[in-house]
Amino acid sequence: SFRRAARIQAIAVSEILRIGETARRMKSEGRPVIVLGAGEPDFDTPSWVKEAAKAAIDAGQTKYTALDGTPAMKDAVIGKFERENGLRFRRDEVTVGAGAKQILYNAFMATLDPGDEVILAAPYWTSYADIVAISGGAVVPVRGRPETGLRLDPADLEAAITPRTRWLLLNSPSNPSGSAYDAESLGAILDVIARHPQVWLMMDDIYEHLLYDDRAFVTAAALRPDLANRILTINGVSKAYAMTGWRLGYGAGPAELIAAMAVVQSQSTSNPSSISQAAAIAALEGPQEILAERRAAFQARRDRISERLDNCPGITCRKPEGAFYVFPDCTGLIGGRTASGRVLENDSTVARWLLEEHDVAVVPGSCFGQPGHFRISYAAAQSELDMACDRIAAAVADVA
Ligand code: PLP
Repeated sequence: SFRRAARIQAIAVSEILRIGETARRMKSEGRPVIVLGAGEPDFDTPSWVKEAAKAAIDAGQTKYTALDGTPAMKDAVIGKFERENGLRFRRDEVTVGAGAKQILYNAFMATLDPGDEVILAAPYWTSYADIVAISGGAVVPVRGRPETGLRLDPADLEAAITPRTRWLLLNSPSNPSGSAYDAESLGAILDVIARHPQVWLMMDDIYEHLLYDDRAFVTAAALRPDLANRILTINGVSKAYAMTGWRLGYGAGPAELIAAMAVVQSQSTSNPSSISQAAAIAALEGPQEILAERRAAFQARRDRISERLDNCPGITCRKPEGAFYVFPDCTGLIGGRTASGRVLENDSTVARWLLEEHDVAVVPGSCFGQPGHFRISYAAAQSELDMACDRIAAAVADVA
């Protein structure tokens, strides 16, 4: 009979997927469900990016490419890092894969031995924990502080570091909290890292261009060049250029690490798609005005949804600095009884109640290592967001 490998036995089918399936089933039964779970922009891939992909096909760029990115793709990444982040890399310090997710996977597979510890700043993207587990590492979650928008506190980080700590993984702006580090708060984290030479930093910058209110984006390797020899900076075109389906992400860091990651990639996908690389070059080197236009659209949605949710009794919603998620605190609802007689025991029952009785699909915070919250993606039409807020406001008004 069928038996799963031990390495994936600890990995449950994600509750996010289960919620998605329930929402789809309800929709197919004719229920007017609004799904606010998606982690992708609702905009289209820019037209010039699509044209570059078509041209690549016509030019015969349809063969295997260099293992971790074509020279042209690597040069586009080098140019991006220099232009936008003030970081200088050589080609052998750059790697390109099928999404930022594959870069994360390569890095953990290439570096973790059983028992090696990875500190995750909670709330964290669910895949981080699962990729660490598949790679044989041990997840060490450290909860962020409510008073700083759930950002990691340097003292809490210091207390979590052991001789087995290999990595700290940070994501700013964050999925799911939307919180971002500025130079001061990131600098304080890097001061801790500086004191522990066994600890490397993986910096996930995938939401770099979704940072609001004219805040300046800051990445670790630029802030502390003296630590760059143990920092892997990860980014990609999925969120910035609405290219989630193209599967193209990249990373840059010490050449020894990049070479080890290439070994992993060589035995999984061989190389990122030749056509997606051509498209990503066009995205990185083409007109950049869409970034500001889309940022402004997301910022307006963020303002409206965070204010409306914050006005709901039992819910506290801060206005996050970036990404396209709000992560309201719903502890004020927990223990309450709904109009239908359901007792809201925790964030999962809150999410189930909103979906089953009020046709709004959100993701419970426990999926991200942070119970007592839920995540809403506002990468959706304003009319849908307004309707979702109406439903949530009506639902919580009846909780006793
Ligand atoms: N990092 C974070 C924090 C994400 O939320 C996501 C996607 O949801 C990714 C990385 C993966 O992006 P990609 O499409 O480049 O694999």
